[in-house]
Amino acid sequence: MASEATKRKTRLAPSPTGALHLGNVRTFLVNWALARQGGWDIVLRVEDLDTPRTKPGAIDESIEILEWLGMDWDEGPTIQTDDLSPHRRAVEQLARAGLVYPCELTRTQIAEAATAPHGLENTPDMSNPSRFPIELRPDERPTVFTDVEANWRFVTPAGDVEFEDAFAGAQRFDVLENIGDIVVWTKQGHPSYQLAVVVDDHRQGVTDVVRGDDLLDSAARQLLLYRGLGLTPEPRYFHLPLVVGADGRRLAKRHGDTRVVRCRASGVRAERMIGLMASWCGLARAEMDAEGFAGALEVDKIPHKPIVFTGEDEAWLMSNES
Ligand code: GLU
Repeated sequence: MASEATKRKTRLAPSPTGALHLGNVRTFLVNWALARQGGWDIVLRVEDLDTPRTKPGAIDESIEILEWLGMDWDEGPTIQTDDLSPHRRAVEQLARAGLVYPCELTRTQIAEAATAPHGLENTPDMSNPSRFPIELRPDERPTVFTDVEANWRFVTPAGDVEFEDAFAGAQRFDVLENIGDIVVWTKQGHPSYQLAVVVDDHRQGVTDVVRGDDLLDSAARQLLLYRGLGLTPEPRYFHLPLVVGADGRRLAKRHGDTRVVRCRASGVRAERMIGLMASWCGLARAEMDAEGFAGALEVDKIPHKPIVFTGEDEAWLMSNES
């Protein structure tokens, strides 16, 4: 039974689908620092479900980068695909409750069904291809989960999901309206990201989730899965704005090589990189180690808007001037 005295715990959850860049490292560093400030435990969990996109060597490389920056953890690394039986049991439980069903429709069929019936042009709505209209939900649902080659979808309840994000503030999101029935098990035969995160956070005792705000609406989906599975306590969420390039788009290849391994290979020291992260958290830009960052970080100073990685930031990172 969870009690108020339950030890708080967070997770660092890198996905080995690409190299860590300055943006994700800033989120990890803030996550780590909040944990160290609050005395929370940390589990390192590698989220490798997206196996076709997993790059060879990326798991080891991500772990090495976090260590190089001075981060540590109390548990793990755990590798998500090592044991998918807890996720399967969760879908079996949902099936017994009549809360999931297999769906063999293609993306195009779903997009066609999502087209407004009275639209002048009968073009499929590909603007939000992940929206699954409720009309496609079958009335009859199996009560046993089977390995048919289909996406298994969760019967998303109607209405707004409301929650208080510890950084981003009050949130309200209508999952059924905007997303529809959530995929919990994919036709590739593994749990979806949404289900896996919920099952893993719960079984690993995670109480505090710190991550980028591109996942804010995922939090609403995840809360519905907590409720569908009857899991408590629900985690406290802390979603941070992303780091973007000068064009306002999230940091990616188009902004040059922002991979941390590349910076490190060209001689940037960890303290310098953390100094840049500090300036992205409302602190003075000065070299410091991870411990120093954890001591200096003040949540109230973290800007509530996207952080722009400028040419000037890059020049400072690559030089040795203070
Ligand atoms: N593994 C995910 C990522 O790297 C994070 C998911 C999460 O924090 O819930 O984007």
